[in-house]
Amino acid sequence: ELILAFETSCDETSVAVIEDGHRILSNIIATQIKSHQRFGGVVPEVASRHHVEQILHCTQLALTEADVTYSDLTAVAVTYGPGLVGSLLIGISAAKTISFAHQLPLIPVNHLAGHIYAAQLVTPLSYPFMALVVSGGHTELVYVSAPNTYQLLGETRDDAAGEAYDKIGRVLGINYPAGKAVDQLAHEGQDTFNFPRAMLAEDNLDFSFSGLKSAFINTVHHADQLGETLNRADLAASFQASVCDVLVEKTQRALAAHPVQQLVVAGGVAANQGLRERLTAVLANDQNETELIVPPLRLCGDNAAMIGAAASVQLATKQPFADLNLNADPSLDLV
Ligand code: ATP
Ligand code: MG
Ligand code: FE
Repeated sequence: ELILAFETSCDETSVAVIEDGHRILSNIIATQIKSHQRFGGVVPEVASRHHVEQILHCTQLALTEADVTYSDLTAVAVTYGPGLVGSLLIGISAAKTISFAHQLPLIPVNHLAGHIYAAQLVTPLSYPFMALVVSGGHTELVYVSAPNTYQLLGETRDDAAGEAYDKIGRVLGINYPAGKAVDQLAHEGQDTFNFPRAMLAEDNLDFSFSGLKSAFINTVHHADQLGETLNRADLAASFQASVCDVLVEKTQRALAAHPVQQLVVAGGVAANQGLRERLTAVLANDQNETELIVPPLRLCGDNAAMIGAAASVQLATKQPFADLNLNADPSLDLV
């Protein structure tokens, strides 16, 4: 089974060839970050234009690197949401064109299912498993009871974890996307500010990061007004400690309520070193011997390999194919 997969939901143009749902034959990722940095975030029109410019070249590279031709393929897969509508449409148009021209089934993939199934590129998954999805736009605890079968246990009420990193990063003078640099800075500091840990007192599996973001920004502005300079590493470490405390605590509660053999951490924030260390430590003491699966950095951020992996699961569970009417769904939910 060979799947050609497309991912263009945000600011990465990515095309991959995946064999049997888990072997990466190629995973081309063209990032546009440099074009967006001076605006402090992704500019949708700029993103779509870059996708148009990159997609054919990436497709060619993906096929060449995998050493396959269109006639070898089993299916074509594409992210159809959530994401930026103009960006999604470029990947969808490319996938539809190839599907039509080469008579290949078209598999529509949810971007978050892709983030979750990036784990399948690392290790075989056993059901049920738990997924902590932490990305630029989402923070969710998802119980995956069977292939392609999701139950949303909790989610953020406001900002996503990655979004919070990007916003406080800007206050620290760090370029978008700030997550990685804040993470590195945090390792040079101490949790001296003791920012709030939201929603821990509440008996649910939801999150909130906007209060933490405000507390952080107010602390920095207050110091500015007094002409004081705060230790940036300590600020970053304090912010990260708060985010990780909440993510780890809620994940532990989810695992206690729904024991599973595997915990998958998915999305861009899964690259966070602090979070990885904390979850590793927690699961090392876990009675249920839950295995922690965190994909390598390249598979945490947006990429088409994860879309190919999720598409393979949809193929195996006989989900309906899309036809040429497939449209982008910018606010598509996982469940
Ligand atoms: P979504 O997947 O919800 O649609 P997205 O695709 O924009 O959103 P991803 O590409 O999965 O999000 O992740 C990008 C986010 O991950 C950014 O907010 C970035 O700051 C964050 N991020 C990347 N590396 C790290 C890190 N080491 N620590 C914390 N955050 C990180
Ligand atoms: Mg991105
Ligand atoms: Fe993403």
